[in-house]
Amino acid sequence: MNAMKNLKLCSLEGRPLPTCIEVGKARIGENFTIMAGPCSVETMKQTMETAIAVREAGADILRGGVFKPRTSPYDFQGLGLEGLRILRKAANEVEMPIVTEVIDPRDIPWVAEYADILQIGTRNMQNFSLLKEAGRSYRPVLLKRGMHSTIAEWLNCAEYILAEGNPNVILCERGIRTFEGSTRNTLDLSAIPNVQRLTHLPVIVDPSHATGRRELIEPMSLAALAAGADGLEIEVHACPDEALCDGAQSLTPEMFKDLMKKLRYLDNALKSYEE
Ligand code: PEP
Ligand code: MN
Repeated sequence: MNAMKNLKLCSLEGRPLPTCIEVGKARIGENFTIMAGPCSVETMKQTMETAIAVREAGADILRGGVFKPRTSPYDFQGLGLEGLRILRKAANEVEMPIVTEVIDPRDIPWVAEYADILQIGTRNMQNFSLLKEAGRSYRPVLLKRGMHSTIAEWLNCAEYILAEGNPNVILCERGIRTFEGSTRNTLDLSAIPNVQRLTHLPVIVDPSHATGRRELIEPMSLAALAAGADGLEIEVHACPDEALCDGAQSLTPEMFKDLMKKLRYLDNALKSYEE
């Protein structure tokens, strides 16, 4: 069976022009878009400090998890509604839209009242009830690639959302599991030009979960931009050593600022070559 045969809505055959998703001032699919912020919302202070730092460095969208799908049930699970209120308050303060993960279909309608983009994480990529409910939401959906999933499976999951009537799906490559143990996952950079030849949907890269190591974020971010990605989702923490989740892969505000300068430089260089 050809797993790509039924991609009626997300394939380029149905719609040859790229999809541009407008969220606040961001135009995802048109301008290189940076989503940055903490892995998890922990406190008002931590979220506000990080939001101010990423905003000052030029990020477009604030990320932050309030429902954390953790490997161990004893690890920090996120602050839920309280966290969402903190994230919204910090985002309003710095005038940024927010992206946050949903893990339960029942939460989608009320989370959509706070969040500008709903994220579906790698572990839930094929949670079909979650996909269908996200497809009924009026909010754009950021769909991460399953860590064990093929491109065809990933695109079929985007198709589930589109088929329910929501046309605004952003794909996110966040690394896949391989035999390599020195990085958290293996970033499949080829997924970017690969899916761009199959779908009109924007595709971004999450170098944080892809590598698990903060010193690898900069080279992978620059490589993603050069490979044609439409943006990045990066974990930044005001004090990474104190983070309750994913501190080792979180950039300090200084590292993020430096990375943003290099990204702008590369983006301009690529654009001037195209012109
Ligand atoms: C996250 O973005 O915080 C996250 C849990 O990502 P992933 O689903 O890619 O592991
Ligand atoms: Mn994380």
